[in-house]
Parts: sequence; C-alpha cells; structure tokens
Amino acid sequence: MIKKIPKQVVEVLEKIKNAGFEAYVVGGCVRDLIMDRLPKDWDVATNAKPEEILAIFGEENAFYENDFGTVGVKIRNQESGIKNQEEKKEIVEVTTYRIESKYSDRRRPDEVKFAKTLEEDLSRRDFTVNAIALRVTDFTKLQTGADGYEIIDLFGGRKDIKDRIIRAVGDASKRFDEDALRMMRAVRFHAQLGFDIEKKTFKAIKENAFLMKHISAERIKDEFSKIILSSNPAEGVDMLHEIGLLNFVIPELENGVNVGQNRHHIHTIYKHNLLALKFCPSEKLEVRLAALLHDIAKPQTKRGEGYYSTFYNHDHVGARVAKKILQRLKFSNEIINKVVLLVDNHMFYYNPEEVGEASVRRLIRKVGLENMKDLMDVRIADRLGSGTPKAKPYKLRHLEYLIDKVSKDAVSVKMLKIGGNDLINELKLAPGPKIGAILDVLLAEVIEDAKKNNHQYLLKKATELDKEDLSKLREMAKEKIEEKKEEDDKELKGRHWVK
Ligand code: ATP
Ligand code: MG
Repeated sequence: MIKKIPKQVVEVLEKIKNAGFEAYVVGGCVRDLIMDRLPKDWDVATNAKPEEILAIFGEENAFYENDFGTVGVKIRNQESGIKNQEEKKEIVEVTTYRIESKYSDRRRPDEVKFAKTLEEDLSRRDFTVNAIALRVTDFTKLQTGADGYEIIDLFGGRKDIKDRIIRAVGDASKRFDEDALRMMRAVRFHAQLGFDIEKKTFKAIKENAFLMKHISAERIKDEFSKIILSSNPAEGVDMLHEIGLLNFVIPELENGVNVGQNRHHIHTIYKHNLLALKFCPSEKLEVRLAALLHDIAKPQTKRGEGYYSTFYNHDHVGARVAKKILQRLKFSNEIINKVVLLVDNHMFYYNPEEVGEASVRRLIRKVGLENMKDLMDVRIADRLGSGTPKAKPYKLRHLEYLIDKVSKDAVSVKMLKIGGNDLINELKLAPGPKIGAILDVLLAEVIEDAKKNNHQYLLKKATELDKEDLSKLREMAKEKIEEKKEEDDKELKGRHWVK
C-alpha cells in the first residue's frame, strides 16, 4: 500500500527536506494509501513558507495563485508513457502548515495563519481519517514495501479507518461552527468510503445543520457533486436527509417524503427518486442528477389519492423545477441544459406495436441523437427505481434497435438531400422566408417516411409546395413535424413501462 507513493512525489518531499524544511504527505492521500486505494491527488504539508517553496522549485516548476498557502508543484506524470510528445504534467499541492483562523463571516477565514508545527496543522483538519501525516524516511526501503516511512497519527485516524468511522478532529460542534461545509464533507466521505458517521459527530451535525445557510452555493455544489459521483450516491443523499442537511441543498426532494404514488408504484416519491439514483447505470454527473430529479415535480402535480392518483405534466414541470434547483446551486449551463432535457423527456412514449420509426425519428429530433443513450439510462434508472425487476424489457431493447436503425435518417433540415441553394438555383425560387418553410415541410415528410429523402423527389415536391403561400406552409410543417397530440395523451394516460 504505502509503497504506491510515486517517485516524483518522493522527489518533491526530498527537495523540500534538502532545503532544510519538513515535508509530509497529508490528508486524503494518506487515508487512501492506508486503505489501499490509489489517491487521485497528492498533498504535501511543510513548514516552508510559500515564497520558500517557490524558491526551492523555481518559477518554471511551481506557481502560487491563491491566498491559502498552497503552491502547485508540477511533476511529470509517470503513467503517460508518451515519449515524443510533451509529457503530461501533474501537480502536487504543497501547503504551508496552517492553523484554524477565525471565520467572522462563516464563509472564508479572515486571514490565513501559518503554523509552526505539523501538530497544529493536523489539528485544524476536518476528520481523524484525513488528519494523518506520512514522512518518507528511506525511499529504497519504501519501494520494497518493508519500511522506510513514519506515520504521524495524533487523533487515532488509523483506528477509525480500520473501524470505518468518520469522526471530527476535536470538538465536533466547534469544528462545524468554524466551517459548516465540514458537515457535508462528513456525508460525502460516508458516501465515498462507506464509513459510518460517529455518534457525537452525527449529533453535532444534526444540531448545527442550520449553519449551512452561511455556506456558498459553489462549495455546496462541489461536495454535492462528489456525493452524486460516489459509489453510494443514494445512501449519501438519504444521509443528507436523515442528518438534516438536505433542506440546505435540495429541499424540493423533501416534499416527496411520505408521499405515496399510484397503482404503478410501490415506493413513495422520495424513495423512488433515491432508488432511481441508486440504480442509474451511468457514471455521468448530469445523468445521475437527472435520475435523482426526474420526478421532482410529482408532489405538486399529484391529483387524487391512492390507487388512481395521477401526475399529469410532472415531466415538464419537473424540468422547470430542476432548472431552478441547479441554477440555485450554480451548476454550469452545460450541466443544467442536459439535466433539463433529460427530465423533460423522461416520459417518452414507446410501444413497438403502436410507435413506428417515424416516431423514433421525432424523438431523436427533439432530444438529439447524442443524448439518446443518456435518456435511455434515465429510463432504466426510473424502471429499476420503481421496483421493476428488469432493467431493459423487450420494449426498450427494441427501441434501442430502432434508434440504431434510424440513426442515419434525416431529422433536421441540414440532413435533407436538398438545400436552400438547390431551390434557388434549380427551381429559381426567390431567396426569402418561403425557402425555409418549404424545407421544413420537406423535413416533415422525410421524418414520416425516410425513403423520401432523395434529391429528385424533394425537388418535385418543392415545386408543388411553392404554390402554397407562406402561412399555409408554416401550418403544414407545424402539423406534421410536432409530436402528435394523441401520442402525448397516451403518454399521460398509460404508464410508459410494462411489467
Ligand atoms: P479527495 O479524495 O476527494 O481529494 P480529500 O480528503 O483529499 O478527498 P480534499 O478536499 O482534497 O479532500 O482536502 C484535502 C485535505 O484537506 C483533507 O483530507 C483534510 O485534511 C483537509 N481539508 C479539506 N477541506 C477541509 C475543511 N473544510 N476543513 C478542514 N480540513 C479540510
Ligand atoms: Mg484531495
């Protein structure tokens, strides 16, 4: 385990040591090493000041761009293996020992206070499992896995790793009062590592949950994203709920607690949302978020009670609610747009006996071919989260087959075998809005029947269409190209999955 520390990281430690300073590997990477997981980044703590660290590594290998005492030191990525290209660089974060300073606004420390000793630095860290330091004493020995290192574990972190426990360093309440985000970090580590939150730490979070209101949306979003991307995302969100933090992240999810559904569901709305996340087959943040939020608007769209209650329009209302939530949490537009699209379309109707290729082309046109796989994943998550045994029944497999089959068919004007210029040059039509309207009608025909996407046919058809006036053309395009109304109705009436 410990021997996994890369040579390049040891070289960073050596250089600092040779300049007369202390240097330790600290934090999450030591925890991961002890757990025999490969750390994703390397943190080093030292008594050298930022300027001194910069002087050791030189301006070309190190940069200091923040106010927290952290210098980024570039190392060469050992695993890139690319010889002739410029080698990929990685960063080791080297941070001067710090102590906890006051957070008057509860958002960021008033000032960064450097500490003299490693002990001080370790005691300001959040959890015992993250407060272990490691010093390499003999790299040759270390490589053989025998020895060659010393561990400084002042708070029983190794025992807590062994017992799989998240425990605050020092007085939990005080530590959460200093920085309330730590409460969410506890839940994040619970989800990532599968560790339990120790009793006193748990109680302190419950009592101090209200302090979350001081934390910026960006910090909450970062920890929440880590929970969603962890190996136990649903347990993580459920823990946020149980411990009283969910109200400060996505209170909308709380509205589904204890709200029953109809004959199609055995779970409450809250439980179903969580299970959809749990069973989401995708590792993408946006798809997992869509799985969690796909039924977010069910509580407010519920009509009636019990066996025959309905949730008309919950998909479209849900898309708007999801957008509001994700904007509030300051997710990127790219993530927001994708989640909104997936939630909005998660009820797509599909039944092989009734829906043909044209319908699949319309769906692809609406959703985008590049998003179909993700939409299917949300649907699978939805099914499995409803307690249906099979991820992909015949119907979904058939849909996948059809998507593949029609994937090259035209679903946009760009994909037609005729363009505006052809109409102008070959049919001598005058440039103007009518050209666009004619192309739209042609697209509608081609979506209906892919065989019609041939230049000669389209040219002939365009000649006929040119006789209609603009508003009539627009009417024709609209009628054909938009999802048929009956389908929408069916979608609302019947559930989309069959047992
Ligand atoms: P990851 O594997 O996600 O990188 P990590 O434990 O390394 O997990 P980081 O957010 O990278 O977590 O933080 C590095 C270390 O800095 C932590 O292990 C912890 O010792 C300390 N730390 C980070 N954030 C805080 C905080 N808000 N309060 C106290 N200590 C913190
Ligand atoms: Mg880290």
